[in-house]
Amino acid sequence: MITTVKGMRDLLPPETRVWNRLEETAREVFALYGFDEIRTPVLESTELFVRSVGESSDIVNKEMFSFEDRGGRRLTLRPENTAGVVRAYVEHSLAQEGLVQKLYYLGPQFRAERPQKGRFREFRQIGAEVLGAADAATDAEILILLFDLFSRLGFTGLRVSLNSVGTDECRPAYVDALRAFLAPLAESMGEDDRRRLEQNPLRVLDTKDPALAERLAEAPQMLAFLDAESLAHHETLLAQLDEAAIPYTIDPRLVRGLDYYTRTVFEVTAPNLGAQNALLGGGRYDRLVADLGGPKTPGIGFAIGEDRLVSALPEAYRLDALLRKGTVALVALGEDDRADALALARTLRAAGIAVDFDPRGRGPGDGLKAAGKKGHALAVLVGSREREQGIALVKNLALRTQDIVPRAELVTFLKGKISS
Ligand code: AMP
Repeated sequence: MITTVKGMRDLLPPETRVWNRLEETAREVFALYGFDEIRTPVLESTELFVRSVGESSDIVNKEMFSFEDRGGRRLTLRPENTAGVVRAYVEHSLAQEGLVQKLYYLGPQFRAERPQKGRFREFRQIGAEVLGAADAATDAEILILLFDLFSRLGFTGLRVSLNSVGTDECRPAYVDALRAFLAPLAESMGEDDRRRLEQNPLRVLDTKDPALAERLAEAPQMLAFLDAESLAHHETLLAQLDEAAIPYTIDPRLVRGLDYYTRTVFEVTAPNLGAQNALLGGGRYDRLVADLGGPKTPGIGFAIGEDRLVSALPEAYRLDALLRKGTVALVALGEDDRADALALARTLRAAGIAVDFDPRGRGPGDGLKAAGKKGHALAVLVGSREREQGIALVKNLALRTQDIVPRAELVTFLKGKISS
């Protein structure tokens, strides 16, 4: 038997109904905030991620699925989507004067991490990027959009963790101070953290070692090193979040694992997700477009881990998405009833009613059982009696009721049931 590749999984029905509903909600919210969809290739030049995500990041260091193609090109399955969006923005000169580009994407990402609950090698992200706006109001709007989405999904009690990582001008002084603080701790560090300390001390703040994390409570904080403009940006953002009643916590140790961030960085965690509890991450990247060869253009974005979002979804939203509310099951009771049922299916579909037609004609018991198993709330049964009398038998599987409905009234009857 050939099975899925390690760390990758199939998404099956009925669960795919939940994914689809979630994606519909996300698209609605993006449209509401003036975003357009962008779709970039899954495969990109390895160089793109080395130059954007950064050589010292865990992603580039040890998590990329990279290979050489038949033409000797170094390619990588995208581990994240911001780099691809920015590459496309530069490649297609989307930086038209004065235009702010608001783009969103949905799609699979690949990282060769050790699989565990909530961590896969193929996972999906829903993300957005705003390119061409440097103002703190853009940062605020991104977070307002996220909380709007969460509230439509039924989440309550989520908070965003926020920090500022400053700019290339003020960060070096902080990195020096941090390095000086960390140097005496190097001996007690594990191999990973020691490598991080050498390559990029900021990454040590992300340590997975609880003993070291405890010592970091005393570490110098980036916020104390911000230049005046970055500080003003940070404070304006906080004021605008207060105004919009977005709940946040300042987390001075939040730096995020990708190299391209400047100023605002944020994360949202969900309490019911266990160890892998980060639902989304994002931040501002005012240097990235220029780093990838475009005109100096500020940007900000986020990526939600869709797999984790699906696991954390409030039960009511989940259950509602699982119900096949708009669809009726149509059961032909006997072999002779198939042609009649097929014609009826066409009539119903033409009237806009979705029909899951079961042509097997195995009798009412089996037909209803199958309809129930597939999550239908309504089943329409047709047999020889129904054909002769010009009626249909409508069963409500949830309420266990049944109605005998004249064919001429069937469309109106079903539409009334579906919308109630
Ligand atoms: P990042 O691109 O690392 O900022 O991650 C953004 C979000 O993607 C995280 O908050 C997670 O929800 C999700 N994510 C990242 N890596 C994985 C993974 N290996 N499996 C599942 N979700 C992931």
